[in-house]
Amino acid sequence: MTETSAAVLAGREVRLISRPHGLPTADNFAVVERALPALDEEQVLVRNLVMSVDPYMRGRMNDTPSYVPPFQLDQALDGGAVGEVIDSRSDALHVGDLVLHGLGWRDYAVGAAGGFRCLDAEAATPLSAHLGVLGMPGLTAYAGLLEVAAMKAGDVVFVSGAAGAVGSMAGQIAKLKGASRVIGSAGSAAKVEHVLGLGFDAAFDYKQGPVRRQLRDAAPDGIDVYFDNVGGEHLEAAIGSLRLHGRVVLCGAISAYNETTAAPGPRNLALAIGKRLTLRGFIVNDHNHLRSVFTDEVSAWVREGRLRWEQTTVQGLENAPEAFIGLLRGENTGKMIVELSGGAT
Ligand code: NDP
Repeated sequence: MTETSAAVLAGREVRLISRPHGLPTADNFAVVERALPALDEEQVLVRNLVMSVDPYMRGRMNDTPSYVPPFQLDQALDGGAVGEVIDSRSDALHVGDLVLHGLGWRDYAVGAAGGFRCLDAEAATPLSAHLGVLGMPGLTAYAGLLEVAAMKAGDVVFVSGAAGAVGSMAGQIAKLKGASRVIGSAGSAAKVEHVLGLGFDAAFDYKQGPVRRQLRDAAPDGIDVYFDNVGGEHLEAAIGSLRLHGRVVLCGAISAYNETTAAPGPRNLALAIGKRLTLRGFIVNDHNHLRSVFTDEVSAWVREGRLRWEQTTVQGLENAPEAFIGLLRGENTGKMIVELSGGAT
């Protein structure tokens, strides 16, 4: 053990102390200091440097069965993070290694070395790229568009949540793969400008008028693919605009995540019959077989300046709950990231 031994450190973690009803509030969370356990054989101690807050975490705050188990009350939350190994009892990882792992929402992570993936520090800077463009949201956009929707050159593609982590990438990848027209929607004039700056052909602010009308104006001849990050009114409008054999990637439905009553389904779903539409849900974890081709292709686009990515950064673990709430309110452009400052005592 080194002098940074786990036995002499305490760290903070963010716990869920009550389940949100509607939009979460700061009262649902507590930042708690706790002693860190001594390392067992094959374990490592990691100082977290950056962590991710993601919309799917809202679903885990409800006590309902889903594809990932709910967060437990009075326990630390978890999620994607990148940190530096500061102590190791495993030959697989060494002090100084940078690692990607799932024990975010805390200053220090302790766990079996197998749960931490060593990063090539040269591959992408800043480290937060591994939580965004080259991480889970990036793979979501890539797999959703190219595998789930089977987008092909010439398609007209509509992306909602277009200024966010997944949506901004989905639209740019569609352009890079030869879409004839890419339309994005986002929640402010500034975000619309940002999306146009990324190379989308058209974009609109969904808060400034009915989505159905704005989408029709932006794509008068209809769309072939809808990459759905928000559900609700957007999904209904897209079904109306889809052409024969159109495809919908059901990626997320953030407009409903804080609803306290069940959202009504799209009223025009029966159009899917005559138009022979495909509406397909997916979870990114089922597409890990694409990871290496995704990493190679997207890294090259980023290096060549052909794909741009943005992030919104909040400082300090104590502000992670506000970052998460801000994400649900649309306060982010690009990936929402929390930078951690340590917290050793
Ligand atoms: P974003 O970076 O897009 O952040 C969330 C954005 O959602 C906000 O910035 C806000 O932007 C928008 N939003 C919030 N409320 C509404 C609303 N009522 N209507 C429309 N937009 C709203 O998050 P991600 O890129 O990480 O995730 C995007 C979607 O993809 C989410 O639905 C998420 O759950 C889903 N997802 C699915 C995965 C899968 O495996 N299927 C994996 C990862 C993400 P604005 O200001 O434009 O409203």
